Amino acid sequence: MAATIIDGKTIAANLRKTIAAEVAGLNAKHGLKPGLAVVLVGQNPASEVYVRSKSKAVVEAGMMPIDHKLPETTSEKDLLALIGKLNADPAVSGILVQLPLPPQIDSQKVIAAIDPAKDVDGFHPVNVGRLSSGLSSLVPCTPFGSVLLAKTVKPSLAGLDAVVIGRSNIVGKPVAQLLLAENATVTVAHSKTRDLPGLCRRADILVAAIGRPEFVKADWIKPGATVIDVGINRVAGEGGKNRIVGDVAYDEAAKVAGAITPVPGGVGPMTIACLILNTLKAACAQNGLPEPQFQD
Ligand code: NDP
Repeated sequence: MAATIIDGKTIAANLRKTIAAEVAGLNAKHGLKPGLAVVLVGQNPASEVYVRSKSKAVVEAGMMPIDHKLPETTSEKDLLALIGKLNADPAVSGILVQLPLPPQIDSQKVIAAIDPAKDVDGFHPVNVGRLSSGLSSLVPCTPFGSVLLAKTVKPSLAGLDAVVIGRSNIVGKPVAQLLLAENATVTVAHSKTRDLPGLCRRADILVAAIGRPEFVKADWIKPGATVIDVGINRVAGEGGKNRIVGDVAYDEAAKVAGAITPVPGGVGPMTIACLILNTLKAACAQNGLPEPQFQD
């Protein structure tokens, strides 16, 4: 039987609509308009595309975009000074510094300078610690979106065997924490893992966050498993045009999996929807309002 395609594009669009309705309500009732500050240093073309789509989503949600474009030569001191201003500005509910940063700037220092209450990327050590301690926190957007997508087909992940391939701070580790919080039994695999195909074959939930095009093959997948493909890889397509593929060999995997996210149109759109959701959550918390509860 062919796999259910987890349509991240539609699910994300619906989530964004729900968020926009919530923002409109907060605006009418409390005069609240959440603001998201996005800081881009330099002219990395991929980053510029991401930043544009983030700003568009912010506007569509009825929030205020506060974009800062800084030159490639910006010093660490100047960037830290800007973060300080954004931390202190009550119109700014969330702060996102687009990574990667130029080499003269220490990313960890910048992340640590963001007020954890405004850290909508969820990368600040306080939020990382809170997530692994099982406390409420701002959760990294891609992992958050990945787990929300898995739950659209498996509302309860309790007791399921989950394998996460990848252990980065931005995807693999936080996905693993979120799956653990959902009571899945979680294994985190990486480049030193032995018999990766055999390990993957045990997974009811398989999350691929590797950065290698079509790396996970059909015979690594347990029949009926839910496959969440986080990978975004540009490969040469027909006519010299680039196309985007995931970390999973989609066509063959879809014949074995029970459900699978496509690339593009799976986890990618959910990342932006979750950023908007985090901005809303941060704005509510900063204004003493209860956290919106609709994402489940
Ligand atoms: P990283 O390069 O930081 O991490 C990759 C991970 O994959 C590492 O833990 C690495 O292991 C592991 N890995 C690499 N090769 C192998 C292998 N042969 N076998 C097993 N494990 C391996 O990548 P990210 O986590 O930042 O991103 C992963 C993918 O997700 C990329 O394609 C990226 O573009 C995509 N992405 C998508 C987003 C979205 O919005 N959809 C957002 C963020 C990322 P080790 O630690 O041992 O080196």
